[in-house]
Amino acid sequence: MIVLACDLGGTRLKIGVVRDGLMLARTVEQANSQQGLAPQLPVLKAAWLRQLDGLNLTLTDCAGVTVAFPSLIDQPTGRILAAYAKYADAMALDLREWARAELGLPLAIENDARMALIGEWRAGAGRNCDNLAMMTLGTGIGTSAIMEGRIVRGRHGQAGVLGGHLSVRYGGRACSCGNLGCAEAEASTAFLGKLAEGFSDWPRSSLRQAATLGYAEVFAHAAAGDGCAAALRDHSLLVWGTLAVNLIHAYDPEVLILGGGIMASGDVILPSMADYVNRHAHTPWGKVRVVASALGDTAALVAGEWLLREHLNLVGNLA
Ligand SMILES: [Zn+2]
Repeated sequence: MIVLACDLGGTRLKIGVVRDGLMLARTVEQANSQQGLAPQLPVLKAAWLRQLDGLNLTLTDCAGVTVAFPSLIDQPTGRILAAYAKYADAMALDLREWARAELGLPLAIENDARMALIGEWRAGAGRNCDNLAMMTLGTGIGTSAIMEGRIVRGRHGQAGVLGGHLSVRYGGRACSCGNLGCAEAEASTAFLGKLAEGFSDWPRSSLRQAATLGYAEVFAHAAAGDGCAAALRDHSLLVWGTLAVNLIHAYDPEVLILGGGIMASGDVILPSMADYVNRHAHTPWGKVRVVASALGDTAALVAGEWLLREHLNLVGNLA
């Protein structure tokens, strides 16, 4: 089955052609998400047509289109339920109708963190295991879970994917979601500036000279001996460890997969998280394995094949 897949991030559009768990082609374009989603649709179409051309394939060789999107999705209709300061027009668009009209293909869409886990489950770090949870550490914190081989979704598509908005600190920092003390508000790139200002040695920190303030800088400056950066690093590891235990207690996984851009510092994060989980998760049956994502940026694209197959089964187009 050949699938045209895309992963629409807030800053980058990842666009590819997938077959049998493998990427046949992949390109990355600027998302320009502040302009909305409608202006990006011709960009997607043009990229897929170029990729198919390069592979000596045509649209008639493809089974469908899949979209990984950073929001909650209504599965029966394929409509996007919320916009979080990116792709503000997305809720008004009918992507299934667009794919039918422009490409002549069916379209399946799902939350991006859920797609990343589906990709890892079918072809990455979660292969051969049907009980998985995943944390994606990036601008925000994405989570998702698979229990007994079933994707955790819930009646409104919220179950499993709101882990970044589980409180890890009672009465803590106000989050953009309306809750207090969310993991995302306590340790994610989106809140890093505000977090840094809360540390007493911030005025003397070498981080103030950094061109940008991201976790790559925090980990590098901490390793070089900056006290504020080390405190920020340790605070963030504690938040992520706390969230990991919450996810394990909620979803009963055997493997916890860590992904996202911040995992570029995985040499520090992975052993720290594994140690925290070993010490604090209540799992009398054994130990949860904490592993790094195997597919990285391509996981949500590779997942396209599974998602499309599920969609076509549901609508009765596949024997
Ligand atoms: Zn929140």
